[in-house]
Amino acid sequence: MDFSKFKNILVFIEIADSKISKISLEVLGAANKIASKTNEEIIAVLIGKNIKNLTDEIISFGANKVVTIDSDEYDKFNLDIYTEVLQKIAEKYTPSTILLGATQNGKDLSGKLAVRLKTGSVTDAFNIDIDDKGNVIWTCAAYGGTVFTDMTIDNSRPQIGSLRSSAFKKIEQDTNKKGEVIAEDIKISIDSIKTKVIEIVKEISESVNLEEAEIIVTGGRGMGSAENYELIKELAKLLGGVVGATRPVIEAGWVPRVHQVGQSGKIVAPKLYIACGVSGAVQHTSGMSNSDYVVAINKDEDAPIFEVADIGIVGNVLEALPVMINEVKKLKES
Ligand SMILES: Cc1cc2nc3c(=O)[nH]c(=O)nc-3n(C[C@H](O)[C@H](O)[C@H](O)COP(=O)(O)OP(=O)(O)OC[C@H]3O[C@@H](n4cnc5c(N)ncnc54)[C@H](O)[C@@H]3O)c2cc1C
Repeated sequence: MDFSKFKNILVFIEIADSKISKISLEVLGAANKIASKTNEEIIAVLIGKNIKNLTDEIISFGANKVVTIDSDEYDKFNLDIYTEVLQKIAEKYTPSTILLGATQNGKDLSGKLAVRLKTGSVTDAFNIDIDDKGNVIWTCAAYGGTVFTDMTIDNSRPQIGSLRSSAFKKIEQDTNKKGEVIAEDIKISIDSIKTKVIEIVKEISESVNLEEAEIIVTGGRGMGSAENYELIKELAKLLGGVVGATRPVIEAGWVPRVHQVGQSGKIVAPKLYIACGVSGAVQHTSGMSNSDYVVAINKDEDAPIFEVADIGIVGNVLEALPVMINEVKKLKES
C-alpha cells in the first residue's frame, strides 16, 4: 500500500481548568520518541476557547507546530464537535499517526475518529516503537494485565492510538524552542451535533489527584480495618502525599473509589510509593510499577509486592507505621 502522502505525527492536546493536562505533555514526549526515529514533525492540535496563551508551552514540550481552533463553540469538550474538527484537521494535514491521551475523552475520540477516517485505533498503549516498515508498534496489556501484546495498524493510515497516563515521560522543557502556530478556522454543521454539554459537574473528591501526586501512601487489605486505615491517611498527610488503596479496600468501603490504584483504578507514577499491607497482585502493580521509588511493608516475606519494591520491610504494618509516623514528625520538628 502506498502511504507516502501520510506524514507527521498529530497530537491532540487536552485542556483541564484552562491548563494543558499532564497526560498531553506525556503524549508529546511519546511523539518525540517516534519522531526522532521517523524524521517526522510533531503537530499539536489545540481546540478550545481563548487558548492562544498555551501554544508556547506546547512548543517548549516538543511540538514543531501548533494548530489552534479557537472559538466560543469549542469551549467545552463535546465528542461530536471535537471529532468533526479533528477529522477535518486530519484530512487536511494527512498525518501518519494521531496520538491522544487515554483519558475518557481521549478514548472516546480516538474510536470515533478512527471510524470516520476508516482506519484502526489502539487503546491504552503503555509503550510505542516503530517497526522496519514504519508502522507504530503499540504495546498494550491484555487479560487483566497478565499478558502484554504488540499491535500494529499496517493496512491503513493514519494510525490512531491513545496512550496510558503516566506511562510516558514528558521531555525536558525548552523555553527557547521555536515553532509555528497555525490558526485554523473550522466551521462544523449543526446537524452533526447530537449532544450538548450543559454543565460540567466536578467529582466530589476532586482533591484526590493520584495521577499527579509525587508521594502516594497506599494501604491494602492487610491494614485490617477502616480504623487502622487512619495510619495511612496520617502518614500521607505528614509527607504531603495522597492516599492510595487496593480494590478490596474500596470494596470494604474504607475509602472512596477515587483512591484506587491499578488496572481498574488510576495508573500512577509518583516519586515515592509506600505500599502497606498490599500483596502485589498484577492488577495492582500494573498501576504503580512506574513509580520512581517503592517502599513495601508486608508481614509475608514472599509477597509479590517485594518484587517491585526498592525497600522491603517484612513486618506488621500496625507496628511499622506508627514508628514511621513518629520519625517523620521528629524530622519535621527538627
Ligand atoms: C479484572 C480485575 C481488575 C482488578 N483491578 C484492581 C485494581 O485496579 N487495583 C487493585 O488493587 N486490585 C485490583 N484487582 C484485585 C487484585 O487482583 C487483588 O485482589 C488486590 O489487588 C489485592 O489487594 P490487597 O493487596 O489489598 O489484598 P490481599 O491480596 O489480600 O493482600 C493483603 C496483604 O497484606 C498482608 N498483610 C496482612 N496483614 C498484615 C499486617 N498486619 N502487616 C503487614 N502485612 C499484612 C498479607 O501478607 C497480604 O500480602 C482486580 C482484579 C480483577 C480480576
